[in-house]
Amino acid sequence: MQTLLSAAQLIAYEEQYGAHNYHPLDVVIERASGAWVYDVEGRKYLDFLAAYSAVNQGHCHPAILKAFLEQVHKVTLTSRAFRNDQLPLLYKDLHEITGFDMALPMNSGVEAVETAVKAARKWGYTVKGIPEGQAEIIVCSNNFHGRTIAVVGFSSDQQYRNGFGPFAPGFKQVPLGDAAALRAAITPNTCAFLFEPIQGEAGILIPPDGYLREAESICREHNVLLVLDEIQSGLGRTGKMFAYQHEGVQPDAVIIGKALSGGYYPVSAVLARREVLGVFQPGDHGSTFGGNPLAAAVARAALRVLMDENLAARSAELGAYALARLQQIKSPIVREIRGKGLWIAVELSQRARPFCEALKERGLLCKETHDTVIRLAPPLVIERADLDWALEQIEAVLA
Ligand SMILES: *Cc1c(COP(=O)(O)O)cnc(C)c1O
Repeated sequence: MQTLLSAAQLIAYEEQYGAHNYHPLDVVIERASGAWVYDVEGRKYLDFLAAYSAVNQGHCHPAILKAFLEQVHKVTLTSRAFRNDQLPLLYKDLHEITGFDMALPMNSGVEAVETAVKAARKWGYTVKGIPEGQAEIIVCSNNFHGRTIAVVGFSSDQQYRNGFGPFAPGFKQVPLGDAAALRAAITPNTCAFLFEPIQGEAGILIPPDGYLREAESICREHNVLLVLDEIQSGLGRTGKMFAYQHEGVQPDAVIIGKALSGGYYPVSAVLARREVLGVFQPGDHGSTFGGNPLAAAVARAALRVLMDENLAARSAELGAYALARLQQIKSPIVREIRGKGLWIAVELSQRARPFCEALKERGLLCKETHDTVIRLAPPLVIERADLDWALEQIEAVLA
């Protein structure tokens, strides 16, 4: 559909009639393909955010589109009151690709986080034997797990919390990467340690090597579930299917979303051992749209693209190249450049927003996170030549 309004008019509508809970760059996108997006004025931009890693497979991937269109003509929503022919196939694919016993499908990422929290607590009561109402979950400071009341309640970011209390009790924070703090925070009532193996929104903060293994062994020692939020880090972003695979640990549960649909549709899931998801009885938990046949068909196609196109390996290779090249930049305003796979943070000694604006003028879209960090996270299908062009723009802007 052709948009006949100017970018300025569309921005004016958005400002006037929409809640201002975002501060977007003023680029009005009307179509996209692969790593490129096109605005209403005919300009093209290379997308270095990839919808916070929801479009790892690239925008409008044709194989996912085909699955979407085929399914949308057949049946889109049955509710879980009845069974559908797509969800069992998604379960089987998830099991075969990830090795987890079971999955529970939801829609947005935060719903899957809430689901994991509910599963962990019920496991705590019914399997571990924690007294009713006493279950504790340990999380990390600087976490980002989404925006519901329960989840912002255990955030350490004041802006996420201020004005939204009161919050749910039962959560404790420890710093990411500090095994001693984790050990000290555990009590007999701890049911789970929930964290991002690499903190994306916090600025791609990577814990020291060995931390995941240490966290795993502390959790095992105290019969505490290791629950990883891989909504952003998972599905190829860091150069492996899951970030936890860099250390060969085996979490009890992992939460996925974002690229699980390749951007076509909100699809999320909790994957876990049978003992964990097995705590749910009919009626304990649910979602009208969760596990619908359209979502399942789209997710299957999105997973197939990740596998068939070896996108995790591509992320590892292109990411290592980009990181090495960016680390050559000599600039007094660059504090640190770190990353894993095609997920790279350029931490500045000043505000990142003006640099994101300057990159936008050059045709490269990225978004600052936490004021001083430019997050670089292109779709994993990005062409090597496009990546080179982007690196040149970044080098020029930082020089
Ligand atoms: C994006 C994100 C979420 C929340 O996902 P939504 O789909 O926005 O609800 C949770 N955890 C992490 C690590 C994320 O990056």
